[in-house]
Amino acid sequence: MRRFQISASHTPSMLVNAKKYLSDRPQLLDCPRCKNHGETELRFVNGFFTYVSFFVLLIFGITILPLFFLWVPFCVETFKDAEHYCPSCRAWIGTYRRLGKST
Ligand SMILES: [Zn+2]
Repeated sequence: MRRFQISASHTPSMLVNAKKYLSDRPQLLDCPRCKNHGETELRFVNGFFTYVSFFVLLIFGITILPLFFLWVPFCVETFKDAEHYCPSCRAWIGTYRRLGKST
């Protein structure tokens, strides 16, 4: 992610490219709204992957595992999508999805 630190321009295409690199960790990005350069704040939300994991656990839960594990996808960040927000103006920058296209 070193390339974002040395970037000088704020072109829209850079943000589009940056979204490919979104992950479930804070990213060093330029905010499209206030041009703040810094690490994004993360908020974990239930995504498609969360529900897929839930149904997989539900199927396994009926047969093998105790149903106790059913809550795991909704509580563990590993199963969730990560929304990136600007640390200074709180603008939404992008969402990292574990399944499907990140936006
Ligand atoms: Zn901002």
